[in-house]
Amino acid sequence: METQVAIVGAGPAGLLLGHLLQRAGVESVVLEARTREHVEQRVRAGVLEQGTVDVLTETGVAGRLHREGMVHRGLELRFGGAGHRIALSDLAGGRAITVYGQQEVVKDLIAARLEAGGEVRFEAEATAVEDFDGDRPRVRFRAGGEEQELRCAVVAGCDGFHGVSRRAVPAGALSGFEREYPFAWLGILARARPSSEELIYTHSDRGFALHSMRSPEVTRNYLQVAPDERLDAWPDERIWEELRARMATDDGFELSEGEIFDKGITPMRSFVAEPMRFGRLFLAGDAAHIVPPTGAKGLNLAVADVRVLARALRDFFERGDEAGLDGYSDRCLRRVWRVQHFSWWMTSMLHRMDAGDPFEAKLQRSQLEYVCGSHAAATTLAENYVGLELEDA
Ligand SMILES: Cc1cc2nc3c(=O)[nH]c(=O)nc-3n(C[C@H](O)[C@H](O)[C@H](O)COP(=O)(O)OP(=O)(O)OC[C@H]3O[C@@H](n4cnc5c(N)ncnc54)[C@H](O)[C@@H]3O)c2cc1C
Repeated sequence: METQVAIVGAGPAGLLLGHLLQRAGVESVVLEARTREHVEQRVRAGVLEQGTVDVLTETGVAGRLHREGMVHRGLELRFGGAGHRIALSDLAGGRAITVYGQQEVVKDLIAARLEAGGEVRFEAEATAVEDFDGDRPRVRFRAGGEEQELRCAVVAGCDGFHGVSRRAVPAGALSGFEREYPFAWLGILARARPSSEELIYTHSDRGFALHSMRSPEVTRNYLQVAPDERLDAWPDERIWEELRARMATDDGFELSEGEIFDKGITPMRSFVAEPMRFGRLFLAGDAAHIVPPTGAKGLNLAVADVRVLARALRDFFERGDEAGLDGYSDRCLRRVWRVQHFSWWMTSMLHRMDAGDPFEAKLQRSQLEYVCGSHAAATTLAENYVGLELEDA
C-alpha cells in the first residue's frame, strides 16, 4: 500500500487531519487499531472551543453539531456555598464554547471521510513506524491477521498517548516534560436533565466537582477522587451523595439525578514531548501532549495541531514548500505550553491539594475570589477557556 500521508490513529486528530488533507487534494490513509463502533462510542471530552467549532463549520462537518450542540456563553465557579458567573462571551469578544460530545465529532468526521471516498482502515494496528529520517517512511501494521506495510512520504502520528509513533523516535531525540497530579476524576453520564444551563466548577473542602452536560436529557458529572480509586468503591448512591455534598449552596441548589449509564476514572497528568517533528514523522494531539481535563483542552489542542499540520502539508505537496513543516513544532508548542499553563492553573485552583493543607486552601479561595471579582482576572480565564485564536498562541 502506498499513499502521501500515513495517518496513525482515528481519534479527533487523525480524522480531522484526513478530512483537511482530502479537501486540500492531499491523499492519505488512516490506520486505526480499534473497530469503528469502539471509536464512535468512546466517551471522553465534550467542550469545543470557538476555533474548533469554526474549523468544523468552515469545512462542512458541523451540520449536526449546530443542530444538537449547546452553545454556552458563561460558566459558574462555585465555592463557599455560592456561585459566581464568569461571562465568557462578554469578556472574550463574543467567543463562546459549544458542548458536543467528542464521540459525536468522531462520528461526523468518519461519516464525512467515508462519504468522500477516503480511506479509514479500522482494526489495523500500527506496530512500527520506520525510515522517517529519509523521504520514504513506512508504517507496519497488522490487519486481518496479516502483517502489512504502508509506504508514504510523511507519517502523522495521531495515535494518542499510548501509541507507537512517539515511541518510534530514537532515545535522546525527544525531551519529555511531565507532571502527575495526586488525584483522578471519576466521571459519569446520567439520564437526568442538567441542573444548570452552564457548567459548574466547584471548589469544596471535600474535593473538586464538575457539573456538565451532553444534551437537554443527559448530564455529565465529575468528582475528584484518589488516583488509585476503584470504580467498584463507588456505587451510584455514593456518587450522588458526594456530588450533592460538594455542590451544595446556601440557597439550596438541587442536583437532578437519574440512571447512571456510563462511569469511568481518568488519571490526571500533564505531559509534553518536544520537538513534535522528527524528519518525516509529525506528532499531533495526545501523541505529543496531554493536559489534565480541568481546562477542557485535550481535544481542542489536537484540533489546533492538525490545522497547522494540514496547512504545512498542503504547501509541501502543492509547491514543495517546506517552511510550514519546518515551523510546525515550534508553532504548535507555543500554544501547547499556553494551554498547559491554563490547564495546570485551573487544576491547581480548584482541586483539594495535599490532604487538605489549610494554607493551600486559603490561597485557592483568595485566587477564586480574585478571578470572580477582578475584570482582568476573569478575562484571563475567559479568553483561555474559549480558546485563544490560532495566531495568538
Ligand atoms: C480516558 C480519557 C478521558 C478523557 N476525558 C476528557 C474529558 O472529560 N474532558 C476533556 O477535555 N478531555 C478528555 N480527554 C482528553 C481528550 O479526549 C483527548 O485529548 C483527545 O481524545 C485527543 O485526541 P487524539 O486524536 O490526539 O487522541 P485519541 O483520541 O487518543 O486518538 C488516538 C487514536 O489512535 C488509536 N491508536 C492507538 N494506538 C494505535 C496504533 N498502534 N495503531 C493504530 N491506531 C492506534 C486509538 O485507538 C485512538 O483511536 C480524555 C482522554 C482520555 C484518554
